Amino acid sequence: MKIAAFEVRDDERESFADESQRVGVDVELHAECLAPSNVGLAAGCDGVSILGQSHIDAAMIDALADVGVKVVATRTIGYNHIDLNAAKRRGIMVLNADYAPNGVAEYTVMFILLVLRNYKPALWRGQVYDFSLEGLQGRELRNLTVGVMGTGRIGATVIQCLTGFGCRILAYDPHPNPKVAEHAEYVDLETLYAQSDVITLHMPLLDSTFHIINRETIAKMKDGVVLVNCARGELMDLDALIDNIEAEKIGGLGLDTVETEGDLIHRDRRTDILTNRGIAYLRQFPNVVMTQHMAFYTDAAVRSMVSCSVDGIRAAIVDGEFRTRIA
Ligand code: NAD
Repeated sequence: MKIAAFEVRDDERESFADESQRVGVDVELHAECLAPSNVGLAAGCDGVSILGQSHIDAAMIDALADVGVKVVATRTIGYNHIDLNAAKRRGIMVLNADYAPNGVAEYTVMFILLVLRNYKPALWRGQVYDFSLEGLQGRELRNLTVGVMGTGRIGATVIQCLTGFGCRILAYDPHPNPKVAEHAEYVDLETLYAQSDVITLHMPLLDSTFHIINRETIAKMKDGVVLVNCARGELMDLDALIDNIEAEKIGGLGLDTVETEGDLIHRDRRTDILTNRGIAYLRQFPNVVMTQHMAFYTDAAVRSMVSCSVDGIRAAIVDGEFRTRIA
């Protein structure tokens, strides 16, 4: 069995070596994204393993099928970069990863606290020996209501973490989870928007969730609302975020993912001028904390992402088992 892995970072190489030896498959590692120009690298492979920057559209599915690939396994939980319908049409199996939700959930809680306690301006000031307190007064979670949109694996774990802080927790999901209902109150979206001091997003990017946070929905929220996004950037309309931060309708943002992040994330761009106006502008606000799509990035998650894809492809081909099949 042979697998071609793309977008392989240096920190993944050891896990790939361990996992390929453990399950007995041959894995070729490539640092570049899977693209039309290099699809030939997958020729003769049973499966390909990718991350989120490889765009697997219908043409790429055709190209992969033509060189004999049977399984596409993304080492990510999100799969909005893969055309699932095209894969079904060409009979290519698609797997995603199901690493533990704890890393992203903990990161979300960290973001909520960073924004509520004005950590970014406090850090800036301390760097230049300004130890004043003015404007840095924070808020305590026990006095606040947190709205969680999407209560799947990550949203449910966020709620579990938040129970220790004593805040009121509201939840919205088209498919409520009875276990979550023990700790959070399921409400409709209008109620969640109207009553939450903090709103955090944990749903997939779908046609139906694209720009779910927009000018109209923000207008329904409390003044000074804190928004956190550790899911996908396109869930929030970037221009609407900028206008509402300027207008002080939004009191703070914690963004691990942002619309238009595209080619910026996970690359060293220190010597470039940042030509992405939305991101360059938004990141200057003291009440906006942004990171480079790294909520997932823990030792345990990286090992698990590699193992999910290598063993997932092996199990699909050899055993006919599909633990994380999405197409
Ligand atoms: P999951 O499939 O377990 O849960 C998603 C939940 O969203 C489901 O319960 C679903 O019913 C719900 N949902 C669907 N449409 C909704 C809507 N309109 N409103 C509210 N809820 C809706 O997925 P998960 O493992 O919890 O991951 C959630 C998302 O987090 C992923 O799709 C991925 O995009 C993102 N993610 C980001 C990172 C990161 O590093 N920033 C890492 C992992 C996952």
